[in-house]
Amino acid sequence: MNANLDVVPMQEWINTDGKPLIIAGPCSAETEEQVLETANRIKAEGYAHIMRAGVWKPRTRPGSFEGMGEPALKWLVEAKKQTGLPLAIEVATPEHIELALKYGVDVLWIGARTTVNPFNVQDLADALKGVDIPVLVKNPVNPDLALWVGAFERLQGAGIKKLGAIHRGFSNAQETKYRNSPMWQMAVEMKRLFPQLPIIGDPSHMAGKRALLMELSQRILDLNYDGMIIETHRDPDAAWSDASQQLTPEALGTMLRELEVRHANYGAEFTDELAAMRAKIDNIDRELMEVLAARMAIVEKLGEYKRDNNVAVLQLDRWKQVHADRAKQASGLGLYPEFVEELFKLVHLESIRKQTEVMSSTVA
Ligand code: PEP
Ligand code: MN
Repeated sequence: MNANLDVVPMQEWINTDGKPLIIAGPCSAETEEQVLETANRIKAEGYAHIMRAGVWKPRTRPGSFEGMGEPALKWLVEAKKQTGLPLAIEVATPEHIELALKYGVDVLWIGARTTVNPFNVQDLADALKGVDIPVLVKNPVNPDLALWVGAFERLQGAGIKKLGAIHRGFSNAQETKYRNSPMWQMAVEMKRLFPQLPIIGDPSHMAGKRALLMELSQRILDLNYDGMIIETHRDPDAAWSDASQQLTPEALGTMLRELEVRHANYGAEFTDELAAMRAKIDNIDRELMEVLAARMAIVEKLGEYKRDNNVAVLQLDRWKQVHADRAKQASGLGLYPEFVEELFKLVHLESIRKQTEVMSSTVA
């Protein structure tokens, strides 16, 4: 994919002293008391840089709680006054943006159900023309990287440069461990495409349940994300939305203190050691490729031999034997048999491709 984004570094719009950004707050703003109590308890714990809350809730089915709307914005403004925490809310229509700006909301995010719809995203981008506000874009509910990238391009087209991605996982057709499967490779690919774009993990919406938050958050930090957005509620079980995935502000504090934050900047000694190990890996990879090239050269000869003797490329018995053999050798070497199996499937496919190519060429 060919894409380019001009992104303002995150530290220029929110100072976290080099630590991962923490956005914490309830899934939804429910009542004035709930917002203020939750906000003050978050503030007392000291970990949050920004407070989140849903004001309009994109519910999958009608009839569930759809958010308190404008009155909730007034409670959030009061929460910000009491705690000093900047505010982040979800916007899904130009009217939401207008109200968010009217009440001085500091950061906007686009929800997963909105990112999937380019018409919708374009309406938001148009409403943001000339506005200098950070906008975070959640991944679309389906694992389509181009939709996610497209949303950033539309916002960039409207002049927005304070951008960030929120990785909240992807919905599943079947029941799985996670409410939304992380599919980490999607976020890694975003980082590869846009190294300067901050990535924020949303373990709450990946998990769907409290018990998974710790392992997901650790994974997010291990992958060196720029921060996390986590739902926290004064009384999680009584929450009007996403009750089973929310934590009290204090439990969130405990969890965050238990997590290991990996260092982004290593000392010189560590860097040397790292460089030495990476150089070894580079060498081994080169050797692997040389061995593969040698294998393919023999495969080519084999193809010629089969062609000249009019033998078919694929002999199933031979492949079954190779398969069984390699799996046995793999476990002897301490390699994960499934990994070796996948690897040899690919190698075999390439061998067949090569031999088919030879077959269709004329005799030399
Ligand atoms: C939310 O953050 O509360 C929310 C609705 O999330 P998502 O858009 O990721 O489903
Ligand atoms: Mn939620």
